[in-house]
Amino acid sequence: MKGFNSKLIHGNINNDSTRNFRSLKTPIYNTASYDFKNTADLEDAFHGKGNHFAYSRTANPTVTELQNRLKTMAGATDCLCVSSGMFAVSSVVLTLCGSGDNLIASKYLFGNTYSLLAETMKSLGIETRFVDFENLNEVEQNIDQNTRGIFMEIMTNPQLIIFDFEKIAKLASQKDIPLIADNTALTAYGFFCHKYAIDIEVISTSKFISGGATAIGGAILIHQNTKWQYIPKLDSEFAKFGEDAFMKKISNEIFRNIGGCMSPGNAYLKLLGLETLSIRIDKICDNALKIAKFLQQHPKIKGISYNLLPNSPYYERARKYFRPNIGGCLIKIEMENKTQAFAFSDALKMIRRGTNFCDNKSMIIHPASTIYCNYSKEELGEMQIYEGTLRIAVGLEDFEDIRDDLTQALLQV
Ligand SMILES: *Cc1c(COP(=O)(O)O)cnc(C)c1O
Repeated sequence: MKGFNSKLIHGNINNDSTRNFRSLKTPIYNTASYDFKNTADLEDAFHGKGNHFAYSRTANPTVTELQNRLKTMAGATDCLCVSSGMFAVSSVVLTLCGSGDNLIASKYLFGNTYSLLAETMKSLGIETRFVDFENLNEVEQNIDQNTRGIFMEIMTNPQLIIFDFEKIAKLASQKDIPLIADNTALTAYGFFCHKYAIDIEVISTSKFISGGATAIGGAILIHQNTKWQYIPKLDSEFAKFGEDAFMKKISNEIFRNIGGCMSPGNAYLKLLGLETLSIRIDKICDNALKIAKFLQQHPKIKGISYNLLPNSPYYERARKYFRPNIGGCLIKIEMENKTQAFAFSDALKMIRRGTNFCDNKSMIIHPASTIYCNYSKEELGEMQIYEGTLRIAVGLEDFEDIRDDLTQALLQV
């Protein structure tokens, strides 16, 4: 199998440990524990030998099948599924960094990721230097001998910035620092981390992969493995396991001890979602481009950002880095002021008011009063979020219905 869809639908047919009864769908192994034929097998399980399952906080057959599929689809060498996108991010940081270490992160981040780094990790002695990744000198100047990772998102939300990934990856390679990318907004279908020397890919499977807001989950995908030798926290793992050092550390310590496992029921929903991933993303992105073109011409819309509009500053990068015609589901628009933005949002009938995106249902949110309500006006301005900014997350409905709902709501503004 060579094609993206065949791989994500079938995974590795000959290596699916869940196919005992040749069931066509991966069953939900809703069990906490497992028994063993003999004591030697039990001993092996505790030494990580053989293909045994011992306890579902550590490994579960349904979750393992999801890991295998995600790994195949992303071209990764390893995958670990976890309880949420936030656990994926936090456990990666805790695997690479100890007290006194630091990270370089893009200043444009998903809100909880920003809070995780600025507050939670800071309280553990892990410092994050937030910089503008459009300015590579600034990134480089902030790197020192205690830097253990460079962290960015593939297309920021809601600014929709696409960085120059090639240049960032080159810098990370020169400095031997792991490059971590949150690829939630595109997934491996839209942006193939494997091609761009990204070492660790994290995704929230709660978004596109869940099949439509069905369950929370996250995944960590490993692409490169030559940099672990430079991470002091991985010293003993590197000596024992070499290229597997990161995966051994995260799965045998951080993930297991903190207890961040994905439930088998949720893994089943993600396996279902995965099978239709590309057709949903294709249709959503097709809708999003049509909606962006429609809104761009509307007199009541003061400004619009969508990266497949030729006048977007990131148009060329979207075409270079992303799969053709894939620009993501998010559109950022500017209304005159907060009153107009609220009136427009309130007048929508089909499009839901809510915080999700990459969902089957179209949604709208006013970022300044919700996701970013704890920031000052100046901080918001720096993040390109204004009083009149609205974020539209385009869904899978028929284009005409999304357009008509927007049209009738704009008439009431
Ligand atoms: C949603 C999201 C997360 C967090 O994922 P959860 O599954 O909600 O924990 C992290 N990063 C990005 C870019 C997201 O959109």
